[in-house]
Amino acid sequence: MMINFNVPFLTGKEQACVEDAIKRRTLSGDGHYTHLCHEWLKTNLGSQAALLTHSCTAALEMAAMLLDFQPGDEVIIPSFTFVSSANAFVLRGAVPVFVDIRSDTFNIDEALIEAAITPRTRAILVVHYAGVPCEMDYIVDIARRHNLYVIEDAAQALLSKYKGRYLGTIGDIGCLSFHATKNVIAGEGGAILLNNRDLISRAEIIREKGTNRKQFFRGETDKYTWVDIGSSYLPGEVIAAFLYPQLLHAEEITARRRQAWGRYYQVLSDSALAHEYLSLPRAANDTAHNAHIFGVTVLDTGVRDSLLANLKQKGIGATFHYVPLHSSAAGLRFGRVASSMAVTDQVSNSLVRLPMWVGVDEHVDYIIAAIDEFLRQVP
Ligand SMILES: *Cc1c(COP(=O)(O)O)cnc(C)c1O
Repeated sequence: MMINFNVPFLTGKEQACVEDAIKRRTLSGDGHYTHLCHEWLKTNLGSQAALLTHSCTAALEMAAMLLDFQPGDEVIIPSFTFVSSANAFVLRGAVPVFVDIRSDTFNIDEALIEAAITPRTRAILVVHYAGVPCEMDYIVDIARRHNLYVIEDAAQALLSKYKGRYLGTIGDIGCLSFHATKNVIAGEGGAILLNNRDLISRAEIIREKGTNRKQFFRGETDKYTWVDIGSSYLPGEVIAAFLYPQLLHAEEITARRRQAWGRYYQVLSDSALAHEYLSLPRAANDTAHNAHIFGVTVLDTGVRDSLLANLKQKGIGATFHYVPLHSSAAGLRFGRVASSMAVTDQVSNSLVRLPMWVGVDEHVDYIIAAIDEFLRQVP
């Protein structure tokens, strides 16, 4: 038996929507299905505007352009994240300033942010790791006092909430991912959420190669021309057609993932060996997270690596991440640290992510039994 780490969920309606998109013959971006996805995101999440992009990476690059990041400007960012969160700013010549994470949520430690602010700081980028919310009230308050933007890397956080508001709609800009490894998918895909009205028209221009094409088609200008910097960030209609039924099922996908997450939590809570050797995720089942990741931490890297190897032998696709950005080759070259990175290093060295997908529930007992069997042999 092989239990994959990720199994993309299909609603069964993707093929019909893609065929319909082909029949409509408007295959470039911003057609029928893109419009439906924009409306769904805007209405259901509650942002001022939503624009589909090729990826969350593309949405982050748009954010850095939109906020006019200049060479030498700084963005405060956790080191425990995917490369795109930092790379988008490095592309503008900006400097990622890394701060440590909290040991309970693995999110940026909000108490360390203020000490990392310099006259060059322009924004705070938060990552809602595993779909668990950062301390947004505290962070937004720092940003207001220091006149900084807040960008949410909500790649993992679709439909997670912080105090009743959807993640990605709280900062000035939110970036979503619909990559095949996320909860709601388009293969490759993403969106930028604009929560600040002043940013919308320039975002449309940046997404359309620096042209005012969108304004032209709305009849707001009589010429279609190059007006600003930009790139090609809009996906074609086939991607949007695949995504739309996924969005319509997003609540159901989230509920079913939470069921699997809850099953892991319950079975591990009942295991005496797990109590002794593992730490369970903090986000208890009653917080409004979207069950993107189920991860446990073990005592040390040696045990972690042999557990991963042991699970692999048993056909279980468990994995780790991230190589912290502050110690990566590019992170050392382009960024700098503003605090001790002890928690980041500790989590990165001890995290085990277990298979997480809609329907993994039926394998949870087997997976935890395999972990217990391994733990019994730990000296
Ligand atoms: C997946 C992910 C990204 C990148 O998303 P893409 O859509 O693949 O570009 C960025 N940030 C975080 C935190 C992610 O998990």
